[in-house]
Amino acid sequence: MASELKARIVKKKSRNWSNKHENFTVRIAGLYDVWNPAASSGRQIEAYNATTKALQGLIGRASEKSERVRALGSAWSISDAAATDGILINTKPLNRLFRVSGQSVSDHYTGDPNNLFFVQCGVSIGELNRYLRQHGKSLKTSGASNGQTIAGALSTGTHGSAIYTGAIQDFVKGLHLITGPDRHVWLERSSDPVTSPGFAGRLEAEEIRDDDTFNAALVSFGSFGIIHGVLIEAEDLFHLEASRIKLPFDENLKHVIQTLQFDHINLPEPVENPYHFEVVINPHAKDGQAFSTVMYKKTYREGIEERRRSSGGFQPGDDFLGVIGTLLDIAPEAIPAAVNKLLASQYKEYRGRTGTLGDIFSATGIRGKATGTAMGVPLEETGRALDVILDVQNRSRNFPGVIALRYVKKSDALLAFTRYSPTCIIDLDAVDNRTSHNFFRGVWRAFDEQNIPYTLHWGKANDLTPESLLTMYKDDLDKWLNIRRSLLDEEYRGIFSSPFTDRCGLSE
Ligand SMILES: Cc1cc2nc3c(=O)[nH]c(=O)nc-3n(C[C@H](O)[C@H](O)[C@H](O)COP(=O)(O)OP(=O)(O)OC[C@H]3O[C@@H](n4cnc5c(N)ncnc54)[C@H](O)[C@@H]3O)c2cc1C
Repeated sequence: MASELKARIVKKKSRNWSNKHENFTVRIAGLYDVWNPAASSGRQIEAYNATTKALQGLIGRASEKSERVRALGSAWSISDAAATDGILINTKPLNRLFRVSGQSVSDHYTGDPNNLFFVQCGVSIGELNRYLRQHGKSLKTSGASNGQTIAGALSTGTHGSAIYTGAIQDFVKGLHLITGPDRHVWLERSSDPVTSPGFAGRLEAEEIRDDDTFNAALVSFGSFGIIHGVLIEAEDLFHLEASRIKLPFDENLKHVIQTLQFDHINLPEPVENPYHFEVVINPHAKDGQAFSTVMYKKTYREGIEERRRSSGGFQPGDDFLGVIGTLLDIAPEAIPAAVNKLLASQYKEYRGRTGTLGDIFSATGIRGKATGTAMGVPLEETGRALDVILDVQNRSRNFPGVIALRYVKKSDALLAFTRYSPTCIIDLDAVDNRTSHNFFRGVWRAFDEQNIPYTLHWGKANDLTPESLLTMYKDDLDKWLNIRRSLLDEEYRGIFSSPFTDRCGLSE
């Protein structure tokens, strides 16, 4: 008889925990690493199910001690969404990947079953890119870098600038959610059946097929329990052709940023709409120019390999969060010159760089102490929102960072901050100091005063409150809270709450 498989749980010594960017440190009740049992290829699902039991055991022990529980991904969130005063469960070692075989796929699934992959929560976007590449497949989109785990990334609504595609949660088709020591569920939309009836049974999970429940759990930053597995829909490998060009920040560009009518500016491929469009504005620039990064999606051809690392400085997928911290905490009067110098030395124009999604949006080394906030606004409000930000900057002249605009299709997730059709996401990436946080607050206040509708990235700097969330999410907020109440009983709503959800009024 085969021996019983058991996951390994390692309790770490540290009682203080900081996120990756070291934006804050909190006191926790404990940090646990969870490792899958070693298993032969024929026993992979059995091993996965043993890990489910181990995670349930941790929740059960926490509940006996009245401790709260939060799942941890790569700790890349700048907000305290992943923080707790209870125990943190490090899911990063949980990185198994499975193809979903024909018999597990519903007869009603309308896509190509070869694009379906079952991904354990701790698999990083980088690992996923490499695995899919080996199978001639690609993620549909990702953030600008690849260090997040799949569960952590989808839980806060991580996005790039895939205008017609969406954010990470938008290619998720199923979630395996552990809601307590005695319950775990397989969630899928009833309107979009993907797995056959036997699939949930293989995970020993209860099956729930319901659109609202699925859409509530997708972006829920650890508040619905531990996401153990994620069913994703990939697509055939493609490559991107990327260019970064300097453009005058004039009426034509202002028209484009709030309409996405690209014929008003000279892009590298005037007849085709870009897959990715991004505009970076340096508020300290003296030349009246902005940078635009444009990427076109192309059918993959053998031999089209990465040609992005050929020169120094910012590469096509790089994001400012990784490097802006190098400006350090400088004196206010030195800020404009320092930001200008960083951009002049690092941010160059280029044309026709090629690479797969994984090549282009690859690793970002984190240097210095950086922070960032990201506001989602309706496309047509982008011009007004930008004017407000520039006005706040003109009054203070000390924002140690840059402004970047990215665009994402509306998400079905109830609390996705990409809730406008489409959403322009305005990133303010900056050195992590008091000046930056005052600047963010000044911008949010000015948006409120000017009645500019906006949302805030769950994983980046925010000052969310129950009142601001109601303004942002309206009826969807109540719907989310009610669905959480119907899925989790009171005890486990308490266990899967945190100081962050308390502050946001999302714990009840
Ligand atoms: C250098 C850098 C670049 C970035 N670039 C982008 C970008 O381009 N676009 C963008 O949108 N964001 C970006 N971000 C923000 C980042 O993508 C998000 O904050 C993301 O959520 C981090 O993923 P993670 O795996 O580190 O999750 P964590 O930060 O560890 O956790 C995020 C949330 O997910 C929950 N969670 C994690 N794992 C699980 C699980 N298994 N089950 C249930 N809940 C879970 C946590 O409790 C927490 O609430 C960037 C951040 C950094 C540091």
